[in-house]
Amino acid sequence: MEGCAMEKGAESLLGLLFEFHGHKCPAAPLGLRAGLAAMKRLGVERAANKELYCICETGSAHATMCFVDGVQVATGCTFGKSNIEKSEFCKNAITLIDVKRKKAVRVALNPDFQRKGLESEFVRLRASGVEPQDIAPEIVNPLIDNIMKQPDEVLFKISDVFDYDFKGRKGTFKWYECEGCGEIVFEHGIKLKDGKKVCFHCYEKD
Ligand SMILES: [Zn+2]
Ligand SMILES: [Zn+2]
Repeated sequence: MEGCAMEKGAESLLGLLFEFHGHKCPAAPLGLRAGLAAMKRLGVERAANKELYCICETGSAHATMCFVDGVQVATGCTFGKSNIEKSEFCKNAITLIDVKRKKAVRVALNPDFQRKGLESEFVRLRASGVEPQDIAPEIVNPLIDNIMKQPDEVLFKISDVFDYDFKGRKGTFKWYECEGCGEIVFEHGIKLKDGKKVCFHCYEKD
């Protein structure tokens, strides 16, 4: 079915997602679906290395931040590979960039769908201080099932593919031994102190 994510891929990624994420919640699978929708519109596969770059618009202190973990699992854009960043706009949206073709797509949560989610019992409990792992499966599971079965157009606003002039940074393999503590530091982390090449910690020490 066009636009429906009940494909095997999405379901098996869901297991990986919750294992990685640590608890069940609606925002993480929404991120998974957002990542998959963006990849589908762009016509790309999950990034093995840095073939994709993702700008995620979530912030660092609000509801639904779990979204980012779903985006990472779907797209292969991860904080470890540094091909994802958070713009801190405090919205549930992503721009996914095909690095080589310099094309991108933006996927944002549909406000109508998000509003209903924010008015759910799950979010009410979270706002009153209940931890996500302490919320009953009868409350959270139907939300997740619903997210996984909705077509992309219900969940998201998906842009057309547009040009994106992406300039990535190449990772360095050049390293030094800090002349203070002897620990290994990659070149961007080296600082000069009294003519010696030192790490951040030794630079700050008196
Ligand atoms: Zn979560
Ligand atoms: Zn040092």
